[in-house]
Amino acid sequence: MTLNEAIFRPVTALKGVGAKTAEALQSLGIYSIYDLLFYFPYRYDELENLPLDQLEDGQKVMLKGIVATNPYQNYFGYHKSRVSFKLRIDHDIIMVNFFNQPWLTKQLSVGQEIAVYGKYDLRKQSLSAYKLLANKNSDDGMAPIYSINRQIKQKKLQTMIDLAIAESMDEMGNAVPEDLRKHYRLMADQDLVIAMHHPKDLAEAKEARRSAVFREFFLFQMQLALMSSQNKSHSGYAKHYDLEEIGKLTKSLPFALSPDQKKVINEIFADMFVDQQMQRLLQGDVGSGKTVVAVFAIYGAVTAGYQAALMVPTEILANQHYHKISAMLEDFGVRVALLTGSTKTMERREIYKELADGSINVVIGTHALIQEQVAFKKLGLVIIDEQHRFGVVQRLALINKGDRPDILAMTATPIPRSLALTVYGDTALSEIRHLPAGRKPIKSYWKTSSQLDEVYSLMRQQLAEGFQIYAVTPLISESEMIDLENAEALHDRLAGEFPDQEVVLLHGKMAAADKEQIMDRFAAGEVDILVTTSVIEVGVDVANANLMVIFDADRFGLSQLHQLRGRIGRGQTQSYCVFLADPKTEAGKQRMKIVAETNDGFKLAEEDLKMRGEGDLFGKAQSGLPEFRTGSVVSDYQVMVVARDEAKRIVQADPDLKTEKLADLQAVIKYKKIVQARA
Ligand code: ADP
Ligand code: MG
Repeated sequence: MTLNEAIFRPVTALKGVGAKTAEALQSLGIYSIYDLLFYFPYRYDELENLPLDQLEDGQKVMLKGIVATNPYQNYFGYHKSRVSFKLRIDHDIIMVNFFNQPWLTKQLSVGQEIAVYGKYDLRKQSLSAYKLLANKNSDDGMAPIYSINRQIKQKKLQTMIDLAIAESMDEMGNAVPEDLRKHYRLMADQDLVIAMHHPKDLAEAKEARRSAVFREFFLFQMQLALMSSQNKSHSGYAKHYDLEEIGKLTKSLPFALSPDQKKVINEIFADMFVDQQMQRLLQGDVGSGKTVVAVFAIYGAVTAGYQAALMVPTEILANQHYHKISAMLEDFGVRVALLTGSTKTMERREIYKELADGSINVVIGTHALIQEQVAFKKLGLVIIDEQHRFGVVQRLALINKGDRPDILAMTATPIPRSLALTVYGDTALSEIRHLPAGRKPIKSYWKTSSQLDEVYSLMRQQLAEGFQIYAVTPLISESEMIDLENAEALHDRLAGEFPDQEVVLLHGKMAAADKEQIMDRFAAGEVDILVTTSVIEVGVDVANANLMVIFDADRFGLSQLHQLRGRIGRGQTQSYCVFLADPKTEAGKQRMKIVAETNDGFKLAEEDLKMRGEGDLFGKAQSGLPEFRTGSVVSDYQVMVVARDEAKRIVQADPDLKTEKLADLQAVIKYKKIVQARA
């Protein structure tokens, strides 16, 4: 069975899906029937079907049986109703009670085979039923649960996915070539899709996941392999930068470059000087001084007669970088512009014009940089900060605005070398391992909530000395509303505890302009305690803030905790970080100990890896790794390695994927490209 391109038609082709639903689906990254089919559940509600004699009192369970008596309905209390009937399960009879679902009387009749889900009462031998399961022999034992947002309901998404499966069963084809599927015993796409959404049991769900992870990684690695084969020569342009000017830049800094910074700048300059395209990944802990390194690369490119672009994932970061970098370069006559989603139309047009005519040398911005209207006169250097936050296609969109420009990716979360190479392909690595001299290491503590008073008194002491504080609360739920409520509750608590201080809340739902204003006030020292979710992104730099208290710290990944901590310890004074957490598990306690004891991001990244399988250890957004929907780069690392090798082999043998047996793969990759460019 081969793939039918009709599968890529928009979701609106489905019955009952209109423009509004389509828009809601887009917020989940779902555009087409294909996207629906491969939008896999992140977990299942397991409705266990156990024999009666194994049930415990109060256990939630699915029971299958035959309706043995006519359901009867009675009313009690105020507007409350109960539908009751007897259910025969093999040789036993139990009582089933549904509350407030009076319509069920019409749907049930004696002799009918059904499955019900509810809570078992051992003494009364009865079930308080929650749910009549649609189809007695179906896979309802494992109900798929999808990741959703405020715009779309779980139930609705389930319905649409099932509709898509029913309609497009025969259109899927197979993205993974047959020989690979045979060799690694992977499911065909059709079986995979059905088993992922509606597994018969846990074993089948696991088996399906294995195939799904391979498929996901394989497609990712195919993209990488194709990209690198299309750019085999890595030819580029030699940049004859002005060493004298660069010397002046070095002298203008208020500090001496650290040995690691010097080493890394030399590596970059060596790459830029030759007529090959630079493809370098700069890894360095938060606060290690990557931004300064980027400034050198930028100034090098500018003195060689080229433009440079720096893309970062958030507006806060873009603003920060813009202020810092333009301050460092303005005395050298370099024109730096800022371009984000909030840049006003008039200003934006001016920037487009001046980028195209070359009068702007450097542009710093967010995704706004990859808009179609952005064109350069002579783009020679592309820097992508926190590169894992961008997809392959987004990175390419910026890179392709130049003619084979040099590429420098930066990440604050060091990941082990082997992993970096596997996930990012052919990249040269530069590392800043040591912080600039004179930095006082941050003192970190793990405290439990019973020690809250101690924490408050440390806060009081620091405030009395004129320092500022970050209070961070995690994003813990799938619902932004609840996260916001948590942050608000923390804000109110701290405002009550510190009535004479300026306590201000900053959260992700605020307008960009408001966020910026709060950050500006914080930087100016007008805010004493800044309460935030994890929106204080990598790179934010306020030297006078020297205490951070992270609430519910065990809800963050190790790497993310370390990232957050990196916001402080940037001035000359002693800084403190307090992890407040009451972890229940041994592993949780271990993690709190580790992060309080070590300040070395590389070590923490390795600890993260060692504890792989724990799943939640890598804070998602800031793990330094790209995100996958089904697979985990950490716990499924071996699969990634195999997928990479197979993808390379295929591209080597057939760089244009011309072979008939790769037709489906070709079609899926082409489609992925289109979607990623849209996101
Ligand atoms: P990163 O981007 O790696 O998180 P930054 O480049 O923002 O780090 O540097 C963090 C802080 O350290 C900045 O305030 C910067 O001015 C300062 N800094 C950078 N390099 C040095 C150095 N060699 N000596 C002293 N301070 C430095
Ligand atoms: Mg930085």
